[in-house]
Amino acid sequence: MTIELTRMDGATEELSPEDLQSFKAAFKGQVLTTDDPAYEESRKVWNAMIDRRPGLVARCTGTVDVVQAVRFARRHGLLCSVRGGGHNIAGLAVCEGGLMIDMSLLRGVWVDPVGRTARAQAGCTLGDVDRETQLHGLAAVLGFVSATGIAGLTVGGGFGYLTRRHGWTCDNVVSMEVVTASGEVLRASADENVDLFWALRGGSGNFGIVTSFEYRLFPVGPDILGGAIAWHGDDARQVLDAYRAFSAAAPRELTSVAVLRIAPPAPWLPKEVHGKPIVAVFVCHTGKIEDAEASIAPLRALGEPVADIVTRRPYTQMQSLLDATQPKGRRYYWKSHYLPGIDDRLIDLATTHAGRIRSPHSAILLFQIQGALGEMPAGHSPAGNRDAAYVLNIAGSWEKPDDDAANVQWARDCFEPTRACSTGGTYINFLTEEEGQDRIEAAYGRPILNRLAAIKRQYDPDNFFRHTKSVSG
Ligand SMILES: Cc1cc2nc3c(=O)[nH]c(=O)nc-3n(C[C@H](O)[C@H](O)[C@H](O)COP(=O)(O)OP(=O)(O)OC[C@H]3O[C@@H](n4cnc5c(N)ncnc54)[C@H](O)[C@@H]3O)c2cc1C
Repeated sequence: MTIELTRMDGATEELSPEDLQSFKAAFKGQVLTTDDPAYEESRKVWNAMIDRRPGLVARCTGTVDVVQAVRFARRHGLLCSVRGGGHNIAGLAVCEGGLMIDMSLLRGVWVDPVGRTARAQAGCTLGDVDRETQLHGLAAVLGFVSATGIAGLTVGGGFGYLTRRHGWTCDNVVSMEVVTASGEVLRASADENVDLFWALRGGSGNFGIVTSFEYRLFPVGPDILGGAIAWHGDDARQVLDAYRAFSAAAPRELTSVAVLRIAPPAPWLPKEVHGKPIVAVFVCHTGKIEDAEASIAPLRALGEPVADIVTRRPYTQMQSLLDATQPKGRRYYWKSHYLPGIDDRLIDLATTHAGRIRSPHSAILLFQIQGALGEMPAGHSPAGNRDAAYVLNIAGSWEKPDDDAANVQWARDCFEPTRACSTGGTYINFLTEEEGQDRIEAAYGRPILNRLAAIKRQYDPDNFFRHTKSVSG
């Protein structure tokens, strides 16, 4: 029986059993068709709002499989998507009807403790990398939730608890192995395929399939001082006001995240506040423990906290502290942009809209990122946005499809008036499905977008990697 697959031009490709068989013979990993028992699970991503059905899923076991998948797709003109950790809010990993090239089985990490680098395969989660590097008291600049994929995070920029010290994740990539749109295997670094290397450090999935990343590592922990402090939602204005001063004065070793939400029934929060509005600040100090206590003291002394779990703990534990708030399979909708600082209007808007939250899982988050970012030249990597001090993320999260409209509307209503408080820039990795060219331009700015478009023409003239936030415009 033939299989119908979606082509890049939108037409249907009839794949004969012989064609499928010859692809399977050349491919070492699994090739899943829609009737395979493993197919349904393989197409599910973190955001349950995404419900696409690829015609074929190619689960790669190494670089050769990636090359074979690209060649097969080219031969048949297929629409393709690339899956890393499957955490992209817009569901870019999964295409409708085409070929999904799934990297998630590739999870090897090799650490060079002397050279302070790690090579990680592209299917790794952040947790995979932290686990191996922390064995040596080292860490890469990664994000806040351990199940997130390194691949999408790195090619889109990447920020986390070490960003204030060392910049975007992509600023700290030493080299990558890449399979290009023509199926060629290249190494990209500061002295090999320099343009491609630049574009892959923030230009998103538009330039090739990275099979492994080599990261620069930094001494961290293994124990750090970190955790969270929470206050009643009634105190949100006072806490955000103090948070603004606290974070602005914080040393680079200290990164914090302010969160406005309904208290979940988490063991670290007293039962009396469960289901009620709270404001919390997550802190992580990656410098000397002796210095950390003093840096965090002003926050601990603020008002009357309902909970304080700031303590000495393993860095890997800190890196997964927010995991439970972001489970795979809920419905999610985000709106986001960068802030140059926290102004009074922003505090007003955040507290007002936190009071209108429609779901116990939704939150308004402020991630502090300013520091090393701003010291690098504007075009150092396409992730850019070096004037950003905070990331504002209005994160809608709920369970039932019937509640989609109300929760999406809440996020949009909160987002629109906060535009006036932003730098005008936004994070490519936080863009939702419907955010198009104007928001992509906001993410990069015109000069960087033009340079990305030129490199795209060179490495992918047919726009083979099109299931992305496009940089061609
Ligand atoms: C719960 C949660 C927490 C997050 N926290 C952070 C955070 O702290 N910091 C931060 O910076 N971001 C964060 N993000 C955003 C995250 O960076 C993006 O969602 C990113 O796209 C996730 O990468 P992935 O590999 O899991 O995504 P996927 O959905 O698998 O892939 C997304 C896109 O990345 C590209 N891609 C994937 N694999 C490859 C590859 N091997 N080569 C080339 N391109 C590839 C493709 O275009 C793909 O479509 C978070 C997201 C979630 C859902």
